[in-house]
Amino acid sequence: MKIGSYSVSEYVRRVESFHGNVAPGMLIGGIMVDAALERLNPTQLYDAICETHSCLPDAIQLLTPCTVGNGWLHIVDLGRFALTLYEKASGKGVRVFLSMDKTAQWPEVRNWYLKLKPKKEQDPEALRDQILKAGVTLCGFQDVEVLPGFLTKQGKGAIARCPVCGETYPKNHGPVCRGCTDESPYASIGQVSMIR
Ligand SMILES: [Zn+2]
Repeated sequence: MKIGSYSVSEYVRRVESFHGNVAPGMLIGGIMVDAALERLNPTQLYDAICETHSCLPDAIQLLTPCTVGNGWLHIVDLGRFALTLYEKASGKGVRVFLSMDKTAQWPEVRNWYLKLKPKKEQDPEALRDQILKAGVTLCGFQDVEVLPGFLTKQGKGAIARCPVCGETYPKNHGPVCRGCTDESPYASIGQVSMIR
């Protein structure tokens, strides 16, 4: 069995170093990304859409050239454990999701996916075993075509200097940067210090 170009054990090693632990979602996620890659025309450049923040974005980043940083991985947090790989030129692609129906014959997978048992009562060994045995049979597939907004790279446009913090930001965000509005994630922020 291969996950992308890796053997299962090599993929597991890479997950450990990149994601921190071999979460079940990383194992299923790897199988899903592999299944999407197999159904895509390998000669075409492609982008990814990930429908959840959990685990799956890291499986995409490990197994494809699509990352958050290069802009080829779009996280659209719909809360569904699903991803799409699509051709940049045509917008046509394949969506892969973890099928609730197909977990029926794999009780540990079902317990994990539907959170039927608290985590401490789940059996991680049996879960991993069932994920690897079930493999791609846990997935459902759909052909999709993405909206035009996902085909062109969105530029930042003109840059402005924020009159409050003095840092630069995309002018189309408004008269001050978002860091100087209530969108700031900081409860407090200290004085600026610079190396001279
Ligand atoms: Zn500012």
